[in-house]
Amino acid sequence: MDYQAYILPHIWNLKPYSSARDEFKGNEGVFLDANENPIGSGTAIAAWNRYPDPMQHQIKAQLAKIKGCEENQIFLGNGSDEAIDLLMRMTCATDKHNIIICPPTYGMYEVSASINNIVIQRINLTAEYQLDVPAILAAINSETRLLFICSPNNPTGNKLNRADIYQLLNSFKTGFVVIDEAYIDFSDEPSFISELAKYPHLIVMQTLSKAYGLASLRLGMAYANPTIISLLNKIKPPYNIGGATQQIVSQALADREFVKKGIELILAEKERLIIEFEKIPQVQQVYPSHANFLLVKLQSAQALFDYLITEKVITRNRSSVPLCEDTIRITVGLPAENSILLEKIKSFYL
Ligand SMILES: *Cc1c(COP(=O)(O)O)cnc(C)c1O
Repeated sequence: MDYQAYILPHIWNLKPYSSARDEFKGNEGVFLDANENPIGSGTAIAAWNRYPDPMQHQIKAQLAKIKGCEENQIFLGNGSDEAIDLLMRMTCATDKHNIIICPPTYGMYEVSASINNIVIQRINLTAEYQLDVPAILAAINSETRLLFICSPNNPTGNKLNRADIYQLLNSFKTGFVVIDEAYIDFSDEPSFISELAKYPHLIVMQTLSKAYGLASLRLGMAYANPTIISLLNKIKPPYNIGGATQQIVSQALADREFVKKGIELILAEKERLIIEFEKIPQVQQVYPSHANFLLVKLQSAQALFDYLITEKVITRNRSSVPLCEDTIRITVGLPAENSILLEKIKSFYL
């Protein structure tokens, strides 16, 4: 791929900030380079007085092993949201280039594009919540730089047909295809990370916010060709991943069993919820889910949602989202939480 043709010239030519920690790689030494406080951070907490590794080598080495890729194919962001924003700022000029999104889908693509004043083309999913491939292909033009595909999709929960994704990857090569796999760990679907070598314009996003249970630490990953990764690294804030996050993530990644057990529990609870929802006559549809949540179409969705809030059970009302009329999105909780939810829904409809 001729990357330079699809990256904004001022980004391609940018001379990045050179951080003090880029110049010396060792851990031992007399560090008088970064204007840090040499004493420490106060008595109640561990020492955080030094700037963290701007390239997060430790975590990338662990992720490369887990995901079966190279370290130079990994970008780490302050949540996936940072990667989404940087991808737009790297490829799209205000009021000129466009992105394609496929609603109903994750809201941040649109918000991030709007903040950057980038043209948004919305090609709705089909009634089956699948990609409308002909319509997407028709919408692609010479100014299209990013195509966002979310699979399993939020808020619908289903996975998108793999053949459709391949067709788009093979047809759209004058920009980048971003596949958001935030929920991939809950699905039996293989990741597209294994296709990076074949598709130099592919960017796969994942996050530690869901299956890994680390939403508060803010760590999102983008996997792509090393050229794309080095451009992202060039434009990110130098210390975008804090030292506490790096340290805790590194520990968490070592505990594979915790993640695996958690996924098993959540999937079992999801099955229980599906069975129980289907017994409730006012529930019209429980959509197929490959994620840790269910999109449910039911009678008086708005009133039920409001009632649940008064009962301190918080769900997400998706009724105003295209193709999601009369639905709420429910995250699978702990067994006791799910039981409370079911009880409240039943008492609402009584
Ligand atoms: C939750 C979610 C994310 C995660 O975002 P973070 O910024 O990493 O917490 C990304 N994409 C989708 C579709 C999501 O639902």
